[in-house]
Amino acid sequence: MSLSRDKIYIDGAWVPPSSAETIPVENPATEEILGHVPAGNAADVDRAVAAARAAFPGWAQTSMAERGAVLGKLHESLTARAGDIARTVGLELGTPLKVAKMVQAGLPLTVLRAYADLAAEPVREETIGNSLVVHEPVGVVGAITPWNYPLHQVVAKVAAALAAGCTVVLKPSELTPLVAYLLLDAADEAGLPPGVLNLVPGTGQVVGAAIAGHPGVDMVSFTGSTATGRAITHAAADRIARVALELGGKSANVILEDADVTRAVKVGVGNAFLNSGQTCTAWTRMLVHRSHYAEAVELAAAAAAAYTTGDPFDEGTRLGPLVSAAQRDRVRGFITRADARQVAGDAGVPDRGYFVAPTVFADVDPASELAQEEIFGPVLSIIPFDSDDHAVEIANNSRYGLAGGVWGSDDRALAVARRLRTGAVDVNGGAFNPAAPFGGYKQSGIGRELGPYGLAEFQQTKAIQR
Ligand code: NAD
Repeated sequence: MSLSRDKIYIDGAWVPPSSAETIPVENPATEEILGHVPAGNAADVDRAVAAARAAFPGWAQTSMAERGAVLGKLHESLTARAGDIARTVGLELGTPLKVAKMVQAGLPLTVLRAYADLAAEPVREETIGNSLVVHEPVGVVGAITPWNYPLHQVVAKVAAALAAGCTVVLKPSELTPLVAYLLLDAADEAGLPPGVLNLVPGTGQVVGAAIAGHPGVDMVSFTGSTATGRAITHAAADRIARVALELGGKSANVILEDADVTRAVKVGVGNAFLNSGQTCTAWTRMLVHRSHYAEAVELAAAAAAAYTTGDPFDEGTRLGPLVSAAQRDRVRGFITRADARQVAGDAGVPDRGYFVAPTVFADVDPASELAQEEIFGPVLSIIPFDSDDHAVEIANNSRYGLAGGVWGSDDRALAVARRLRTGAVDVNGGAFNPAAPFGGYKQSGIGRELGPYGLAEFQQTKAIQR
């Protein structure tokens, strides 16, 4: 069955793209071509931006509650497609079906519902002295997203932007464009006003660059690599367009002297290998107090060896392939060059498909490539430390600052969590909160997504003096 699509979505309708060029979409578990999507171009971006501009004044005039009601309908239409979403991401990314259902489909539905509910709440306005402070939509938003959580990353932007009253031109990753089509199917069914949400698939160099540099785009909201984030910021700088950047990470999982080591290692390994390690927040550095170090290394190696790698559609599979041959080769390069003690990772993987075995290195030098570079594969580095201060120093020795974990007695772990230069920290496995602000320090990004902070990202602030 071909999953091909031959249209793009502009001004409330599926329309032919300007060019007949297409992009193949591959199944990374089988190396087969699943289908093709249009390779959009600058002319398509012009049409989409024109539609978004034309729709903006009307959409911005609606009340937040009205927009929340539209998001509620979109949530309904998307929920009806939950099974298709999980299967599609299983096919185009290779996420094991169980995780695909829970995370790749479940998470965006949770986020969309949260924004529909937030928009229904009383509008937040403030009086400061003689000023009334109000919030207004930024305008036309260009949303450019990666492949690792291909619907979640789209919804985190689209739901917040639409709730704020912005209109959107969306370009999903060319590696995983099919699930974005399901969102537009749902939007079409839900009756979003024409022009409010537009889809132009294509490559980063062509469609992404055209959006980032477009004079009609008021804000670029980007999730992806730090290198691309830099290029987008340069493109937006000429017209002082707002940018929001969610970039890479190299997060530390700090296991203190008084931690529950068994639990900390178990949860830590699961976090590091989620989605085959293709997770920007992955705890890829495990920092362990020297008194527990040998035990933690042994536990982590055993946990990695217990992973079942293979067909994402097999119930028992916990680890799927990496997204592409290029990504697999890149990850293998890090493993080959590694100068540390390998304690897991030689397990066999299927010949066909872009698999890498779950790999663990111990005695990793905090300054080495393994500990400094975002690998984006199932590779965990374990590093010993001698004191809380020492742990904080190693954890913060990174140009990234996206997420992290700390395990220990509550007060001590919280004190360490406060000292980490990172946008989020989970203490003793604190649960994911879809309303909490999400974003990075340092080269992990600018701005925040999710919840009220994510909404504010798409708003201007106006002071009216009386
Ligand atoms: P990428 O930067 O290669 O691509 C991301 C998107 O940008 C794609 O849609 C791509 O087509 C587009 N793009 C590429 N070049 C462009 C250009 N010159 N101008 C405009 N657009 C361009 O990243 P990726 O490989 O798709 O994703 C992996 C990266 O994303 C990792 O570094 C990961 O850490 C990061 N990430 C960050 C978060 C976060 O929230 N902080 C979440 C997930 C992934």
